Amino acid sequence: MSGAGDILILTKAEPEEGNTGYAQGGVAAALGHGDSPALHGADTVAAGDGLCDRRAVEVLVGEGPGYVRELMDWGARFDLEPDGTPSLAIEGAHSARRVLHARDATGREIGRVLWQRASSLPGVTVQSHARVVDLVVEDGRCAGARFIGLDGGIHPAAADAVLLATGGAGQVYRETTNPGVATGDGVAMAYRAGAAVADLEFVQFHPTALKVEGQPRFLLSEALRGEGARLVNTAGDAFMERYEAAGDLASRDRVSRAIAREEMRTGGPVFLSLQQLDPAYVHSRFPLIAEACRKAGLDLARDPIPVGPAAHYVMGGVVTDLDGRTTLPGLYAAGEVACTGVHGANRLASNSLLEGLVFGARAANGMKEDGNPGFQGSTVPRFERSAEPLNPGALEPANPGTLEPRNPGTAEPRNVGISEIQDLMWRKVGLFREGAALQEAIDALDGPWRAADAYLRGGGALDGNQWRALNLLSVARLIARAALRRQESRGAHYRDDYPVRTDINWNRRIMETIDR
Ligand SMILES: Cc1cc2nc3c(=O)[nH]c(=O)nc-3n(C[C@H](O)[C@H](O)[C@H](O)COP(=O)(O)OP(=O)(O)OC[C@H]3O[C@@H](n4cnc5c(N)ncnc54)[C@H](O)[C@@H]3O)c2cc1C
Repeated sequence: MSGAGDILILTKAEPEEGNTGYAQGGVAAALGHGDSPALHGADTVAAGDGLCDRRAVEVLVGEGPGYVRELMDWGARFDLEPDGTPSLAIEGAHSARRVLHARDATGREIGRVLWQRASSLPGVTVQSHARVVDLVVEDGRCAGARFIGLDGGIHPAAADAVLLATGGAGQVYRETTNPGVATGDGVAMAYRAGAAVADLEFVQFHPTALKVEGQPRFLLSEALRGEGARLVNTAGDAFMERYEAAGDLASRDRVSRAIAREEMRTGGPVFLSLQQLDPAYVHSRFPLIAEACRKAGLDLARDPIPVGPAAHYVMGGVVTDLDGRTTLPGLYAAGEVACTGVHGANRLASNSLLEGLVFGARAANGMKEDGNPGFQGSTVPRFERSAEPLNPGALEPANPGTLEPRNPGTAEPRNVGISEIQDLMWRKVGLFREGAALQEAIDALDGPWRAADAYLRGGGALDGNQWRALNLLSVARLIARAALRRQESRGAHYRDDYPVRTDINWNRRIMETIDR
């Protein structure tokens, strides 16, 4: 970004490795005939189930088309109609065709253009395999970050302003569409540094991840159902209409729960069937997905494809205003790590690439222009604060788990059982939630987290794997706490013991700041 001074981009893997590179379906923007930002905004707010920040939504849908056009000017090759206009797909809960796509590898194309653009700018240095582990806070202001470099050593990076763009946290769950880097580091770091986080009970589970034993849960894009693919049970019957009037294109949380219920009802798996579509079209429209299926021994066009829900996207994150400012001066956030409020309780499909484009640019401008950086908190509505421990008894768990230091404050924590966290979150803080199970999850997570936090504050050091574990533990604990606190069902958050939306008590967002 010109005029911004020196910029250091630290990324813990190769630059291309992140959720963006895996995004298939596309990026939503009101560019089609008969569509408008107002319609796109209405769909976004409806999906958000009462909790969207309307000002943030207006910015997203109003500025989105301009940023998407800019991306095309920079060379993004979206699929086009014969007349040269972008080909627009429709996805679940959208009322118009508005999803631009580059076959089924839209995120890769967007990432390619953005990296190309960023590396052509003067003053930008990219350092890959640099895992940021902590933020430097001096005099109540973020003054840089510390990272583990390729040499394994900890290095400081001083900065006037720091932008977190660390992506999602799907790895908190056993079943996820997210790659290994999506461990919620930004949320964990910002929370530790004193910034507010919010909406973390809202985790979107995608209904159709490829479900083949021993294979990663590769995402089978919603665009498949947009093109006519059907969900069927073991008998080959399409079942979605029995659960949802909107059928196969109901919102993701509803389709996910319907799949889980149908699996319970039949005792068998659920499949995605494309057999009624033209095989040549299927293979040319979805080459990446067809290839993933082929590797699993399946023909996307001909075979019933076994699918199941998987954690996909975290609506919550580090609280920001409309220009990426967090509540910690000098610290900004954009993309999936941020909580701008645009998604409310559930994200409309294909809105997150758009959010990254719009609010990433706004955060960059905010950083550049802020003479006196500071959170403009007035844009964030009605928060329920939850800084107090939920259950004092939970602070000393009966089973301390594996991150418990042998001697809190001095001894080094052993490696936490990452798969234990993932399994616990899937079973107790997943698609169907309930008070007692949530409390059990908190009981298991809270003690090890507090012990590790005390160890760090006592000057203790962690290696890269331990940081990964601690970040997962931190985010898991925050999700579980918010999920227990919200005693209703709304958007992607479903409670068996509170199955209805209750506006009178819960038409508000849950924010948490660290309480030491
Ligand atoms: C399979 C899949 C399909 C999707 N499909 C769509 C879609 O069709 N449309 C849509 O709108 N959205 C989609 N999404 C969601 C969307 O892709 C993401 O929300 C979005 O791309 C996130 O972008 P980001 O820049 O915030 O994070 P990312 O693209 O994940 O980038 C985060 C970067 O931060 C780095 N990083 C993380 N922690 C650290 C650390 N501690 N130190 C240094 N670097 C770090 C990572 O290595 C990575 O490079 C999809 C997501 C997945 C997983």
